[in-house]
Amino acid sequence: MTSPTITLNSGATIPQLGFGVYQVPDNEAEQVVLTALETGYRSIDTAALYGNERGVGRAIAASGIPRDELYITTKLWNSDQGAQLAPAAFERSLELLGLDSVDLYLIHWPTPERGLFLETWEVLEGVLASGRARSIGVSNFLPEHLDAVVALGGTVPAVNQIELHPALQQRSVVSANTRHGVATEAWSPLGQGQALSNPIITEIAERNGISPAQAILAWHLASGHIVIPKSVTPARIAENLASTQVTLSGDDLELIDTLESGGRVGPDPATMNRF
Ligand code: NAD
Repeated sequence: MTSPTITLNSGATIPQLGFGVYQVPDNEAEQVVLTALETGYRSIDTAALYGNERGVGRAIAASGIPRDELYITTKLWNSDQGAQLAPAAFERSLELLGLDSVDLYLIHWPTPERGLFLETWEVLEGVLASGRARSIGVSNFLPEHLDAVVALGGTVPAVNQIELHPALQQRSVVSANTRHGVATEAWSPLGQGQALSNPIITEIAERNGISPAQAILAWHLASGHIVIPKSVTPARIAENLASTQVTLSGDDLELIDTLESGGRVGPDPATMNRF
């Protein structure tokens, strides 16, 4: 079983459903990522912050899957923003991953108070030009941050990876992404598990003979989002990938659309300046 793909504004294609590894310790990442790859995932989402790029790289090497069949994303951590530090941070990520290039390199957060994200974007443009990232993008960028990057007149981000799940549907950010031709990628697509017990979700799941996680992931896929659910449990890893086979009715999709409540599980990008 494989995932459908989405074509990015860079011309590259990304699997619409990938595997997230936030909070997976480095010494467990190799086994967990190998399980995901053996299950059929081809896209892995890590970050320098997660401290598990080495374990992810080991899994890639051990899998024996040709590099061009894999889609690897990593992210520049906030403390490495700016022209001085970002180039070395990218090299470090490549080295830990054991790769010559990544498929997607993201600025993890805008950290607007520091005023470095535009300068940092220009570093990512250099990485793109060098061929060591096939696409570059951003994460947690609000419309005002995205507008500022696009106003530079250079590369438009391929992706904006944002917190997005039934309780936080981010309509204004998604519409800014769409306006600029930026693909929307949903982090914490299951609301870190909190969305699974919502009674509307469990009712839709029961009626369709699927799991709550599959109901939510099928809604994301039908909404055009790229998703990167995380699990360390083999049965759930398989169950999440199998959501690519689920088609919900228009009525069920609309029911999930009504679940917006503004409930975040992570920080607000407008005020997140930690590094
Ligand atoms: P998620 O929404 O993917 O939820 C993961 C949790 O849901 C698991 O720990 C497990 O408890 C539960 N779960 C998963 N599958 C399940 C299933 N089938 N049945 C029952 N429970 C299940 O949350 P996440 O890990 O925070 O987000 C996914 C990925 O997004 C991360 O691993 C990371 O790669 C990325 N992420 C990015 C940012 C960012 O700032 N860019 C922030 C957070 C996460």
